[in-house]
Amino acid sequence: MSCRLVGERESVQQLSQSLLLLLLTGGHGVSLPEPGRYATGIFFLDKTHHQETEQLFDDLAAEHNLKVARGSEPFMRQVFIAAPEDIDDATFRKKVWVNRKQATHNLLRPGCRFYICSLSTTTVVYKGQLTSDQFWVYFGDLNNPNFSTYMALVHTRFSTNTFPSWERAHPLRLMAHNGEINTLRGNVNLMKAREGVMKSAEYGDELTKLYPVVEPNLSDSGAVDCCLEFLVMAGGRSLPEAIMTMVPEAWQNDDLMNSEKRDFYRWSACAMEPWDGPALMTFTDGRYIGAILDRNGLRPSRYYVTKDRVLVMASEVGVYDTEPENILQKGRLKPGRMLLVDTLEKLVTKDEELKLQIARSRPHSQWIQEQFTMEDLYAAHEGDLTSEPSLTNGHVNGAINGEENGGIMRTFGGDRRLCMFGYTLETLNMLLLPMVTTQKEALGSMGNDAPLACLSQFQPLIYDYFKQLFAQVTNPPIDPFRPEANILEPSAKQCHRIFLENPMLSLQDLEVIKATKYRGWSTYVVDITYPVSEGTSGLVPALDRIAAESCKAAEDGYQILVLSDRKGGSDRLPVNALMALGVTHHYLIEERQRMKVGIILETGEAREVHQMCVLLGYGADAICPYLVFETMNSLRSEGVITLANKEIFKNYISAMERGISKVMAKMGISTLQSYKGAQIFEAVGISEEIINKCFKGTASRIGGVTFETLANEAFERHALSYGDRECDTMVLRNPGFYHWRSGGEKHMNDPVSIANLQVESASEIVKRFATGAMSFGSISIEAHTTLAIAMNRVGAKSNTGEGGENADRYIDQDPEFNKRSAIKQVASGRFGVTAAYLANADDLQIKMAQGAKPGEGGELPGYKVSEDIANTRHSVAGVGLISPPPHHDIYSIEDLAELIYDLKCANPNARISVKLVSEVGVGVVASGVAKGKAEHITISGHDGGTGASSWTGIKSAGLPWELGISETHQTLVLNNLRSRIVLQADGQIRCGMDVIIAGLLGADEIGFSTAPLIVMGCTMMRKCHLNTCPVGIATQDPVLRKKFEGKPEHVVNYLFMLAEEVRELMASVGVRKFQELVGRTDLLRARDSCSTKVNLLDFNLILKNALHMRPGVNIVGGSVKQDFGLETHLDQEILKEVEPLLNGTTDTVTVNTTIHNEVRAFGTTLSYHIALKYGEEGLPDNSIQINLAGSAGQSFCAFLAKGVTGLSGGEVVIYPQKDLPEDYKTEANIIVGNVCLYGATSGSAFFRGMAAERFCVRNSGAVAVVEGVGDHGCEYMTGGCVLILGQTGRNFAAGMSGGIAYVLDPSSEFPRKCNQQTVELLPLELSDDLVFVEDLLRQFHDKTGSQVFPYEYQRALRQLAEKEAAVQVTPEKAKVEVKPEPTVCDIEESVTDTAMEKKRLEKILDKTRGFVKYKRETAMYRSAEKRQKDWDEIYNVDSVRRGLRVQAARCMDCGVPFCQSSHGCPLGNIIPKWNDLIFNNNWKEALGQLLQTNNFPEFTGRVCPAPCEGACVLGINELPVTIKNIECSIIDHAFEQGWIKPEPPVLRTGKKVAVVGSGPAGLAAAHQLNKAGHLVTVFERNDRAGGLLQYGIPTMKLSKEVVQRRVNLMKDEGIMFKTNVNVGKDISAKDLQEEYDALLLCLGATWPRDLPIANRQLEGIHFAMAFLETWQKKQMGNTIDHTTLTAKDKDVIVIGGGDTGCDCIGTSLRQGAKSITTFEILPQPPPSRGRDNPWPTFPRVFKVDYGHEEVKVKFGRDPREYSTLTKEFLDDGTGKVAGVRAVTVEWTKDESGRWKMNEVEGSEKVYKADLVLLAMGFLGPERYIVNELEMEQDPRSNICTPDGKYVTSVDKVFAAGDCRRGQSLVVWAINEGRQAAREVDTYLMDTSTLPLSGGVVQITQKG
Ligand code: SF4
Ligand code: SF4
Repeated sequence: MSCRLVGERESVQQLSQSLLLLLLTGGHGVSLPEPGRYATGIFFLDKTHHQETEQLFDDLAAEHNLKVARGSEPFMRQVFIAAPEDIDDATFRKKVWVNRKQATHNLLRPGCRFYICSLSTTTVVYKGQLTSDQFWVYFGDLNNPNFSTYMALVHTRFSTNTFPSWERAHPLRLMAHNGEINTLRGNVNLMKAREGVMKSAEYGDELTKLYPVVEPNLSDSGAVDCCLEFLVMAGGRSLPEAIMTMVPEAWQNDDLMNSEKRDFYRWSACAMEPWDGPALMTFTDGRYIGAILDRNGLRPSRYYVTKDRVLVMASEVGVYDTEPENILQKGRLKPGRMLLVDTLEKLVTKDEELKLQIARSRPHSQWIQEQFTMEDLYAAHEGDLTSEPSLTNGHVNGAINGEENGGIMRTFGGDRRLCMFGYTLETLNMLLLPMVTTQKEALGSMGNDAPLACLSQFQPLIYDYFKQLFAQVTNPPIDPFRPEANILEPSAKQCHRIFLENPMLSLQDLEVIKATKYRGWSTYVVDITYPVSEGTSGLVPALDRIAAESCKAAEDGYQILVLSDRKGGSDRLPVNALMALGVTHHYLIEERQRMKVGIILETGEAREVHQMCVLLGYGADAICPYLVFETMNSLRSEGVITLANKEIFKNYISAMERGISKVMAKMGISTLQSYKGAQIFEAVGISEEIINKCFKGTASRIGGVTFETLANEAFERHALSYGDRECDTMVLRNPGFYHWRSGGEKHMNDPVSIANLQVESASEIVKRFATGAMSFGSISIEAHTTLAIAMNRVGAKSNTGEGGENADRYIDQDPEFNKRSAIKQVASGRFGVTAAYLANADDLQIKMAQGAKPGEGGELPGYKVSEDIANTRHSVAGVGLISPPPHHDIYSIEDLAELIYDLKCANPNARISVKLVSEVGVGVVASGVAKGKAEHITISGHDGGTGASSWTGIKSAGLPWELGISETHQTLVLNNLRSRIVLQADGQIRCGMDVIIAGLLGADEIGFSTAPLIVMGCTMMRKCHLNTCPVGIATQDPVLRKKFEGKPEHVVNYLFMLAEEVRELMASVGVRKFQELVGRTDLLRARDSCSTKVNLLDFNLILKNALHMRPGVNIVGGSVKQDFGLETHLDQEILKEVEPLLNGTTDTVTVNTTIHNEVRAFGTTLSYHIALKYGEEGLPDNSIQINLAGSAGQSFCAFLAKGVTGLSGGEVVIYPQKDLPEDYKTEANIIVGNVCLYGATSGSAFFRGMAAERFCVRNSGAVAVVEGVGDHGCEYMTGGCVLILGQTGRNFAAGMSGGIAYVLDPSSEFPRKCNQQTVELLPLELSDDLVFVEDLLRQFHDKTGSQVFPYEYQRALRQLAEKEAAVQVTPEKAKVEVKPEPTVCDIEESVTDTAMEKKRLEKILDKTRGFVKYKRETAMYRSAEKRQKDWDEIYNVDSVRRGLRVQAARCMDCGVPFCQSSHGCPLGNIIPKWNDLIFNNNWKEALGQLLQTNNFPEFTGRVCPAPCEGACVLGINELPVTIKNIECSIIDHAFEQGWIKPEPPVLRTGKKVAVVGSGPAGLAAAHQLNKAGHLVTVFERNDRAGGLLQYGIPTMKLSKEVVQRRVNLMKDEGIMFKTNVNVGKDISAKDLQEEYDALLLCLGATWPRDLPIANRQLEGIHFAMAFLETWQKKQMGNTIDHTTLTAKDKDVIVIGGGDTGCDCIGTSLRQGAKSITTFEILPQPPPSRGRDNPWPTFPRVFKVDYGHEEVKVKFGRDPREYSTLTKEFLDDGTGKVAGVRAVTVEWTKDESGRWKMNEVEGSEKVYKADLVLLAMGFLGPERYIVNELEMEQDPRSNICTPDGKYVTSVDKVFAAGDCRRGQSLVVWAINEGRQAAREVDTYLMDTSTLPLSGGVVQITQKG
């Protein structure tokens, strides 16, 4: 922009009157009226229709009494409109405008081009799709010497548009801008909505002809231009005021702002929301010309005023050549500030003066009194309500119309609505509780590997289908929150609105709003529920009704609409609040009613940050999440939290505010007002019908769920809560959306896939592989280097991540163990980015966004910053490191292009890569990036990321890489840019098929992150953010790092296995080379799915073959090189001059030369050569002295090496020319621009003059002296030193965590400008500091020419000496309190803790590091000496309970709890949850969790061999968590407390089920079937129920009272037990089959394995089970002769090991055996896991069970003889057994790898024996029932059922337990019984309310 401030008005006008006169009068004989009495403009038309269109335009002009004259330019027409005699200038101007608007609205027809560039009495727009050079040639006017103008506004853009067009070039009718308006969609929607309330006395009815104010399909600048013009032409605003309204300053928190100005902003905020985004906006109406910078100042804007009265402003210096002595002033626009030139008055008006003028133009301060707040409403209610937030308002637990929910259903908190609204346990535990207790959202890590909502089978809410968009190349930080009438006529009416502190309302607030009549306001409540009886088809009519009712209420004059789902309950189903809002918001906009009402949501559904964001983004004004508050109330009454109402509300709101701010910041939006309705989301998997009705304008690329699908799922959720049949739900449902859990949502990283990746186990293909960016900092150095070595070995690339890399990793590496990362990342933090780091890279990757938290900054907490990390990152160990939000340094594609160029200069041999995140529009961004000369682009998916982030970030930002890759590939091909770019896909890619799909969709290369980590041992604990990774990968804890066992070979093997799989797949589609695969979408098709939901997805857009869109284009990525033009760079000349120095022939070189602003990145390539040769050390100081004169281009001295006198070691001195005029104040003039010294790592800089915004951001080592800085100085600084001898801007030192700033503060304003959150201000008084500062000042003085301007420094020195005027800023020292390690005492004598005890234990117990601190308690039995003398249970109950919480503290609550996996607990017991609850002393809830999956924990807690413990993650390198004891204690405690009571079902179905067998499977099945309401009869052939539990397991392991207690309970619940009935013998199985609706066989495997060897018939040889059963019966008091079957005084030999063998030992011992020996045929197991027995399989290791220990105590030796084969029983001569002859065997593997047993010669031995017990297992069920029912059997003689099913070959007959699956564990039998019951229930009722394995209830509605 430029303008001339001299001359007479007539001679300087923007329309070049002289030229026009010459051309028109001279050339065409057309006379031209006086300026102002005609309008001219340029139209874009098309060849075919232009005449027709021109005629139509003439007609339209005639209607306005205007006459058009026309020139002869084909297709582009310049028209002239003359003013009629009878109207004044102003009226003429308006008519011309109306004429143009109407023409634009009416004349555009399909296929017919019509666009008016401008039509104005004062300005003319020349624009086109032209390069800057072409422009001047194309528009001959501009080259004509007669063309003159007093001002010009020029805009050229770096076109990122996919298909740029003439029309979409900048509008320039009133404005041009450099940047982005991120809130556009909302602004445009709201403008449309305002049309309903706008009125204009001036335009009257004609106003509607101007609608839509913003024409459709405009670019963002086009839309801004329309609105701005409208405010000026119809809204009574001057151009500067209209600009102030649309682009306000950050006024809300600026205490320094003039109050009148603030009042103006406050008033104008009521009229219109800001058009927000990073932008420098320039504007002119022909008289005024000016510019304004966005509130965050994210764009540079520099201006000069010259002595010859010219003002030039541009986004950089040097665009206008003038002699330095001609310059009067050099300045820059500050954030939110405006510069205005009035060309008529020839005045430059400064911001403050101008804005005050405007602020005082109306009584704004008075008008804003009309605003009111919640306090006013409360006051109006005169004390009948308090303003204290309430958590209940009479609706607790959904008591609606007398319907009480609490306590009826055994759900968490007893509230049925939780399930209906989709609450899960994770919602409470992982999201809400952290929010209300810590005021923050909880963090997660390791990305999102759960399915998208459109693939989930667990009824996700619609919010989950929306993904947050974020700015890929713009991301300003934002200021905190704050939260219509006719805007055309400014008045107090605009303020007649309620001002809310934030958008979240308490229950009380809402009640007040509903009841208010304050100032005539009234509220209308729209019920957004509908009758359940209407079924799924009721949804759409309900939406229509909601929209229509809302519209009527608006028309009827209500001011507030409350959309309420309060009535949701058993009879009424809530419409999803988001859909209800969306449909209402859009309907009201269409009907032009939206601005008349505020919309408040009263919803039980929304509770999470993401959900609130979506609601706000689709137009909600405020939200009352009532169910959150009510649930917290319930949790408090249950003792889970202890907070008061006020705290709960405050904490939740504050966490919500932070969360929402973060999401807004990702998009670069600063105010909530602008975010509202901005619709910054992309939908994944939603059909067009829903989008069109509720979310108009939202991208949804793959179609998906319909209204019917969502209605079905809502009904399913409703059925879970209010279904006719009670669900078997003890706890709130938890399908595991965040952490994997058994039976729940699928996760890519489930235990099976993790275990598969960890088994041990194509060279061109692997070269296409790279590891994703994981910083050394986020993972341990061991893990990081292992990855690098592996990737180097296979010729692939590893990535440093953003943490830098120590020089010792890239210099002189052994090729076999090369730790150098080929890809070096450059992120916004610039951690460790030195010249040497850059010089030693193959790829330099700019991180624009990241997988873990797209759009957010990162933070490495102090406890993770070890010495190594601090050194690498140039900071201090123990001090946290904050990365600025990504792209803090990059605000536009131009900035990105600059960084690409800088990096290329910093390493001309490296490939420059840019990492983007998948989202809609990434293709366009990628095109821009390609045009910006990137050579490589990584598209990262939403699911990747290893770092920590808030769950909102992990779950709701970014999209699948598949969408991003296909869009990017297609867009690059369409733009013929594909050949310049190598494209990489990244994000949870793990198998060959993923690689192939990535290739087919367009990827050349593949990045891996999570998979290699898993291969190295990661178990997806998701604890990276806690620094407690138990396998030493994502931790910096030296103790844990020692546990790292990963090897490069693991990764190498994995990559080759993957490559082999890729090869096979390539061969299967006939492709030889990977390149041939790229983009071949024709080879890919969507698989048919069994899920109707999945089948709704439409992949056509993704599967478009880009080559069909633009045939013949080169798509070989990287085959065309980007041209950086480095050969002509000034550095090449310098390099020639310094060659002698680099050759070592001289020590110093001085170069004198000039520079101009086209020389960018000066000194950077020179530094590359120095760094390559001399490494980090560089050259000795001042080796190369370069003296430059002129204005340098951008990135001057970026990454400068040491020894060169910008910055990574060099020295830069910048000062103005020496012969400055006397009145030139350097401290008031800008000498260096924005973002100077960003991320500098070392070196020094001296600037004589001011630096603009963001000086020294992320400086980690440079020393700088400057005379003043703009806003955001020293932000995020981590090291180095800055001396500022003048003014500073606002927000100084925000996020600063290291280094020192010395600031001269003569005006005492600095404390207010400094952000003191992380720093403290100290006076400069320490002598060391004084000496240091003085030395710096002297250097500054010397280097910049102090004789020219010495006084300031002298004054500074004087002041410093007086120790008064300066303050010193040092980052707050981290207070590290060294506390002694707590001693853990077993003080927990009883589990019934008092509150005090609870608090005390919480203090001393550490759950986070419990697994490191506390050892596993191993002594769980009573002493062996004592216990062998009685038959009581062997457990030491007291001791176990005492240490229980310590043991529970060892559980890490794993993200993927292997204890629940298929190798772990067969029931899927929710172990981490109950462990956590026990740790927190919440026994009752722990019980609920336990009973959700396990019917009989009192059995499993005693007899289970605990495979869960074998699979526990802790077991990888420690002793596992003590799970079984905790389980047993929970249930025993529950019985003791009387919590376990009979719970008969509420409803009986009338169906009868017979269960045969009362062992664990039979009992579990009966229990479940009874819960489902069926009448169950259990048949047991013995005299007591319990089967094996009763008679097979001895009392010392399982007391029979425990068994009987359960059986009695079951009887009380209505189950019938028929004992002494041997089905198949006493009664016929067929009769049962007929009599009952279903027959379930749980017969067990009772057919014992025999030992048919010589003398088997001898007396004294018995099956173990007979022995145990006889004794049990005897103990139970049965009349039975046990004398032949007792071990008393006998030599006992037990053949066979296992639990039964051990029970025989324990029983024999107690009976008084003389000796006990057991034979085991297998060899003694090893003490630790063998190679063939890896974790998490059941550990086959040597264990000493209770019996073995007891024998050892009594007889002095372990009874087990291993590798012993029994050959023969020996006869005592009377037919009784007298001994056993046995041999030792040896086990070897044959050629095929099978184990083979050989007898060892000469090893024969005879063992004495009176009693031999055969404990060799069982062969299957007994046959009589099987035979009677003629059932199919499998080859192992078990009852045959289809895979994973329980139904047999016989109608109505089912089988479960050992009779079906073979001999197994009690816990497996219980699981079989539970799952068989679910199948029987489904068979009987068509659907089941019983849970799946893992306890998850899944209801699927029929039809
Ligand atoms: S039932 Fe067995 S496997 Fe399951 S948690 Fe309990 S002890 Fe572990
Ligand atoms: S018991 Fe072990 S595997 Fe299970 S959650 Fe706890 S630490 Fe993880």
